[in-house]
Amino acid sequence: MATEVNVYSLDETSTLKQLENLASETTVFLSMPYIRGLTPRALLERGQKEISADGQGFDRYSGAFRPDEIGIPIFDHGLLYGDAVFEGIVICHERLFKWREHIHRLYASADRLRIHIPYDPATLTERVLETVRGTSEAGRAATYLRLVVTRGIGDLGIQPAKCSSSVIYCIASKIQLYPESLYDRGIKLALCRTTRRSSPDILDPQIKSCNYLNNILAWIESADQGCHEALMLTQNGYVGEATTDNLFVVTKAPGWEEDVSRVTVATPVSGYCLNGITRNMVLEYARTLGYQTEECATILPSDLLGADKEVFLTGTAAGLIPAIMLNGQLIGDGIPGPVARKLRSLLTRDLQDPEMGLSLYAREKEIPAYLQAGSRAGAPSPSQGSDFVREMFKVIDGRDWASLENFFGKSMTYERPGYAPLVGYDRVLHFYREERVIASGQHLLDEIVMNSDGGACWGRFVGEHKNGSHIDEKFADTYKFEDGKIKLRRSYFFRPAV
Ligand code: PMP
Repeated sequence: MATEVNVYSLDETSTLKQLENLASETTVFLSMPYIRGLTPRALLERGQKEISADGQGFDRYSGAFRPDEIGIPIFDHGLLYGDAVFEGIVICHERLFKWREHIHRLYASADRLRIHIPYDPATLTERVLETVRGTSEAGRAATYLRLVVTRGIGDLGIQPAKCSSSVIYCIASKIQLYPESLYDRGIKLALCRTTRRSSPDILDPQIKSCNYLNNILAWIESADQGCHEALMLTQNGYVGEATTDNLFVVTKAPGWEEDVSRVTVATPVSGYCLNGITRNMVLEYARTLGYQTEECATILPSDLLGADKEVFLTGTAAGLIPAIMLNGQLIGDGIPGPVARKLRSLLTRDLQDPEMGLSLYAREKEIPAYLQAGSRAGAPSPSQGSDFVREMFKVIDGRDWASLENFFGKSMTYERPGYAPLVGYDRVLHFYREERVIASGQHLLDEIVMNSDGGACWGRFVGEHKNGSHIDEKFADTYKFEDGKIKLRRSYFFRPAV
């Protein structure tokens, strides 16, 4: 079947023209360890030597360049093996939209792959802001950033341990995934027949890595169906996500026009997909509007069809785009529905909101406060794996009791030796505020094992009892999650026999 919808022209000349145009609108920040014979000369000649240590014994150079002035070394493992992580960020009204959340996810992805980022988040932010400001002063105002961190430069073997420190680059450019008209008309989806979305035990979708082969195969398999995007199923045949966007299904029960609680806005559980930043915003909008929301592990392709349905995709670059067809069958009545339109209008509103991003002109000392302010709102969810547990202990050890609600569900239970089960968030909070005998201390974690339903961790707690005595004991915790928070936590302590 001929490709019905030609989003990107395959015509060679126009692709060439498009790429040349893209190049003329692009600036790139590059930061790389110095390796004689491999580091591009322009970086040495025109870049600056970083003063702070690279952490792995390399000299490091960085600078902002036009795309054809520099290059990524042929031995970079991001290129050779996809051993890299990235974020895509929209710039709107001279602000990096949701920068805090993107930075958090970038460091979390890098952490999962044990790629060290040799800048703290505030310094990396400064470098990116300088680059984007320079770009707009040169008359090429960027509207989209692609921030990439690769493992670094290595030999032709896969071993991460034999690589240099990481290579970082930030492309300040533009992106348009869909023409504006498609937001009014809606896109066509195809179901990918063979390739499945990788599960957390194969390649965790929460690691936003530069290995998109899984998604690219899905796209290749589906493109001949004349679609704008391909839907990927999980190993068990449930809907996971589209190749670069999250999926939502809206169900409107009879009477929904009068009673919004009859509208259900469902999206696959985060074990099946990237826990998208836009996905989380849209779930929040839906709750605020009074719709039922559901993170669902059992959405079937057939659940997308029917007169009472609306379907849409969400992502940073795509925003919120309605879908009107699946494998040639109409979704709803074949035009974007009112629920999708309403949710999209809230996203458009937020894109204009100065509170939602970091100003390009933020001063150096404002940046740490901006990044910090989000540590509550931007708390990781269980699907972000070990980060969730680490952040929870940071909050506990920092006695930041107000932030516990980011981790503990309202109806949770906490079981620990010496207490009747603590039932309900308020009870747990009371325990922490009033009853806990620890004056100060730190949880030192040896191991964290997690999936999207639950997990465990163990390590040592070292601190002071309120009576002044020293505590040094082994502990273990198990967790069960529900709706992105802890539903059940059990703690075990291993005290030396007396
Ligand atoms: N899923 C995948 C596979 C993605 O690559 C992306 C990012 N384009 C998303 C979902 C959407 O995530 P976000 O809203 O954070 O951009």
